Amino acid sequence: MNLYVHFPFCRSKCAYCALHSRGGVSEATRAAYAARIADEVSRLDFAARGTIYFGGGTPALCDLRPLCAAVRKRFKEIDEFTVELNPCDVTPRLLEDLRAGGVNRLSMGVQSLDDDILRAMGRPHTAVQAEIAFRTIRAAGFDNAGFDLIAGWPGTTVASWGQTLTRACALKPDHVSVYTLIREPGTTLDQSVAEGHVTLPDDDAALAQHDAARAALAEIGLKRYEVSNFSKPGFECRHNMSVWRGEDYVGLGEGAHGREGSRRTVGNTAGGYDVTTLSSEADALERALFALRTVAGLDLCETMKRWPVLSTRMTTWRRELQALVPHGIVRETGCDRFALTDRGFEVCDAVISAIMSAGQDPAT
Ligand code: SF4
Repeated sequence: MNLYVHFPFCRSKCAYCALHSRGGVSEATRAAYAARIADEVSRLDFAARGTIYFGGGTPALCDLRPLCAAVRKRFKEIDEFTVELNPCDVTPRLLEDLRAGGVNRLSMGVQSLDDDILRAMGRPHTAVQAEIAFRTIRAAGFDNAGFDLIAGWPGTTVASWGQTLTRACALKPDHVSVYTLIREPGTTLDQSVAEGHVTLPDDDAALAQHDAARAALAEIGLKRYEVSNFSKPGFECRHNMSVWRGEDYVGLGEGAHGREGSRRTVGNTAGGYDVTTLSSEADALERALFALRTVAGLDLCETMKRWPVLSTRMTTWRRELQALVPHGIVRETGCDRFALTDRGFEVCDAVISAIMSAGQDPAT
């Protein structure tokens, strides 16, 4: 079983961010939160083996040592233990604590290596601080480390994005996530766009930046393995891969999502968990179609075997996917195996929702 823990605290809110997090929370509140999560971890009804992911928010705004200790006590074997970091968090002391706590993978939010853009994003660090933080992570002996970038920020020029990519590649990361900016309702960015202070780039400009990132990362040996994720061979994020393979995971903390059998849980702000129970078909649909986010794609025969409840959809899905092949959106990678092309990844969500809504086929 895999475990995701969400930390809903940040120093301040970035302009584009709609994740479940808030700034200005007292140290006492953060300490109480960490203690509560450590208690929940210690009461988990499973042990054995799994991946652990501490995300946020900004996990390092809590004391992670007792939490790491609780996790290590509960899990006999940990396949991968990731913590998300902000460049401002990174100190040799923190890294030492994380290593001692069993953390073996770090993922840092960098987003850009252009100071003007970082300021506009509301990030609390500079480009140089991010570079120093990454080098400090390496110096501390972490040999599985990477960071996130955001493509399509308003006003990003070809030269500025090129600079960001050059500096990012010079850090020799093992893993990079490149997210295309989304205008999320309720964010500062959303408001600035609505008031006419900021104009978002058109889709082509954002996609061109994503393409440039793909080419630059390929040159340092990082290959795309999911819509937004690139890694050296063997450095794919195991935790996220298991989510995309449709496996279960427990989500602890405010805003954390979990998937346990047909149950979906979301941590609420009262310290409890809201639970939704899906039908076996809805559960299988969600799990199966995540595969289209990955370069490995969807194996229809395998899917049918794993989730017989979907078998009546197979003929329809095969037909829908084959119809996208001549458009360069889908490629057939084997008998009844389909994956999105790079062009297809640009419209991944639309393809998944089209396949999801493709109804049962009476012919099967
Ligand atoms: S982007 Fe990260 S650091 Fe910024 S507000 Fe969102 S969760 Fe916090």
